[in-house]
Parts: sequence; structure tokens; C-alpha cells
Amino acid sequence: MSFDFDTLKVQAGYTAAQHNNAVSVPIYQTAAFALGDSYRADRLFSFSEDAPIYTRLSNPTVDVLERRLAALHGAAGAIALASGMAAVSYALLNAAGKDGRILTTSRLYGGTVDAFSSIYPDLGLEMDVVENPDDHAEFERGLHSNTRAIFIESLTNPFVTIPDFEAIAGIAHAHGIPLIVDNTVATPYLFNPFEHGADIVVYSATKALSGHGNVIAGVVLESGAFDYGNGNFPQFERPLWFLRDGADNERNILQVFPDIPFTGRLRAVHLNYLGAALSPFDAYLILLGLETISERVEKQVKNTGAVLEYLENTLHVSWVRHPYAKGNRYGELAERYFPKGPGAILSFGFKGTEKQKRAFLAATKVFGYQANIGDVRSLIINPAQTTHVELTSEQRKLVGLSTDTIRLSLGLESTKDLIADLKQAFQTAFGESQ
Ligand SMILES: *Cc1c(COP(=O)(O)O)cnc(C)c1O
Repeated sequence: MSFDFDTLKVQAGYTAAQHNNAVSVPIYQTAAFALGDSYRADRLFSFSEDAPIYTRLSNPTVDVLERRLAALHGAAGAIALASGMAAVSYALLNAAGKDGRILTTSRLYGGTVDAFSSIYPDLGLEMDVVENPDDHAEFERGLHSNTRAIFIESLTNPFVTIPDFEAIAGIAHAHGIPLIVDNTVATPYLFNPFEHGADIVVYSATKALSGHGNVIAGVVLESGAFDYGNGNFPQFERPLWFLRDGADNERNILQVFPDIPFTGRLRAVHLNYLGAALSPFDAYLILLGLETISERVEKQVKNTGAVLEYLENTLHVSWVRHPYAKGNRYGELAERYFPKGPGAILSFGFKGTEKQKRAFLAATKVFGYQANIGDVRSLIINPAQTTHVELTSEQRKLVGLSTDTIRLSLGLESTKDLIADLKQAFQTAFGESQ
């Protein structure tokens, strides 16, 4: 029997009978697990028996989270990590190997953009940037012989642009490389990238996936369909001593993890040696958040629509960017890929002086001023001067980010209160009587 998303989000990956019949997933707050007899230890350490040894590598609470997320995506494998940045970095390093290139766009999370210049080249990973991601032929032209993956975000921040996933996946697959999609802003409730050609999906679980602004975490998932033995990924085919079998024969990643080579290698190599393990308590918080993801995101999308309509009819707003905004070029792609709505963030241009803008930011009472998105609380920020401050002026120009930009992330508060809050903040900023 197959189950719908809303059933899986509260039940998948967990059998109470295997955990003292506990109804809520227990928090296994332990560093290590008893090995039993030394023959069992032999089996555990040669990958012939699968059970937890040490929490850096796996933990039963984290394991339930990974199984639940895999089920929600129809994915073959998932691995939970200590932050979204760990998820992005590990996924890109895993795909690119040594001297590999990643083809991406400038419409990326600020931290990811910055990592491409500040750390990845030191690790043997170079990037190429498609200047106009709306023209997918540019992806074809941007490929080199050593490009090992295409990396895009499904809904971008702060302008909510949408790539043509199937066209870009087609280009990646024609060249024998995977498409990696950062699906943080969209959430699996609104969009499953695997259904539209993605091979790897990454998340910052810090955002709407957990949804309550109380945890830093990341996830990498794999479809199980991509062939890492196609000759482009020698790091998956190289025999490794630490993967040897009971008779001391060296094995490679594809032999040890035939169904989940990508996340298998991430666990055996990156998580094992670079060590960004998720704590069992944080996994528990994400499981709790996931139980209401559909209900949360549905209301957040509704609030976004209502606030969008208000902003489009407000004097002090010069433009609104969101696929549902009037004349927005991503309306059609939103209809095709996001029938339940294109997320819960939007940006607008503040029509006023810098001083008035700062007064406006200081005046909101319901919207919180902070560097986060996807929280149950509504948030407001001026990205050019905060979250996206790392971008060079050239990168800013490519993204179209100006200092008058205000980004909202809609939460679960009353729609009426949210709109009233913006209204009174505009009145305060412009000295209008209330
Ligand atoms: C926040 C974010 C990240 C980084 O995640 P952290 O959990 O903060 O490390 C990566 N990608 C996107 C799209 C994000 O919004």
C-alpha cells in the first residue's frame, strides 16, 4: 500500500514496536552503542550488518528523520547533517571530486556564493556561473569537460525566480552529470525536485522544513537512479581499504552502496572524516516540525498571497517580485511546477529615502527583523545590507539586488494583523497620521 505525503510526514520511517512502543520518536542521546560480541563487531565494521556504532556516523533518532525524508521524496537515500551549509558543501564536494567544476547561477544563497570564492577552490572545486539562468541554452554553453554537476536553487531568495528544471536536467543528463537542487525555500510539500529530473536534493532544514526557527540542520537526498559508474566519477570506483570485506578484499563505493552510492559515500567519507553530524535532539525537533509541514506551508502561502495583494496596491512600493505579482515572468513556470504555490517569501521595492526605509524596518511590530526565512513567525529584512552583503557589486547586478529591496518571509500569524503591521510601519516611516 502506498501512502500520501500527509500520512508519510507523521508516520514514515518509524515502527513503535522497535522502540519500546514509544509513540513519539525517542531521542537516543548517546555517543556510542554497545557492540555486543566481537564477531558482531566484525560484521558491523565490515558493513555486512547495519546497526549504529557511533553517533557521528548514525543514530536511531537521526535515522528515523532520514527515512521519513526519503519517504516524503520517494528517494532511495537521505543523510541528515548539522547545517544547510554542510549539506551544500558535502554534496558539491562529493560530486566534483578532485579538479571538478560545478556549473551554477548567481541566484544562490549568499553563503553558497561566498563559499565558491572563499573555500571551494582550495579544496579543488571550481565553479562556472550561468549569467542568465532563464536562457537554458546558457547551461549547455557553460559546461566544461570536467564539469561534474549542475547546481541550482528551486525557488530563489530574495526574488523568487524559478528555473526550468526539466530543460536543465535534460542538459545535465545528456552530459552524464547529475542535477543538484537546493529545495530549501520550496519545501517538499510544494515541490519534489525528483519528479522533475533532479538527481540530488539538498536542504537547509533550518528553514521551512523544520519551520520553527529553533534548529540549524541540513539534508542531502538522492534519487537512486543516477549512474555514478558512467566513467565521470572515478571517486566512486576507486577501491578503498577501509571498505574492505571480511576477507580483506578492497571494495569501492558502488560495490558497498549499490542502491545509494551518493549518500553512502557522503556518510562513509564526508560525514565520517569532516564530521558535521546532526545531534539526535535536533533530529527530534525537525521530526516534530515535519508533522505539520503541509498545514504550515499552506497557510504561509495564503498569507503571502494576501500580503502581495496589499503591497501591489500600496503607494510606497515601487515594485513587487513574486511569481504571482502582476507581469512577473515566472508566472507560467509557477503554474507548471508549483501548483500549490511558489513559497512564502517575496520582495518589494521601498519607495522612499534610505532614512525612511530604516524607519520602516524599525517600526514593524509583528514582522521580526532577523536573518532567517521559513519560520512560523513572519520576518522582514533588507537583504542587500544584511543576508546578501557578501555579494560583490557584479554579483549584485546579476541578481538585480538593490538597496531599496525589502524581503518578507511569511509566517502563521493572522493575515489581518500582518497587513495592518505593514500599514502602520509605512505610516510611521512617512510621518503620516494613523
Ligand atoms: C539558509 C540556507 C542555506 C544554509 O543553511 P544553514 O542551515 O544556515 O547552514 C543554504 N541554502 C539555502 C537556500 C538557504 O536558505
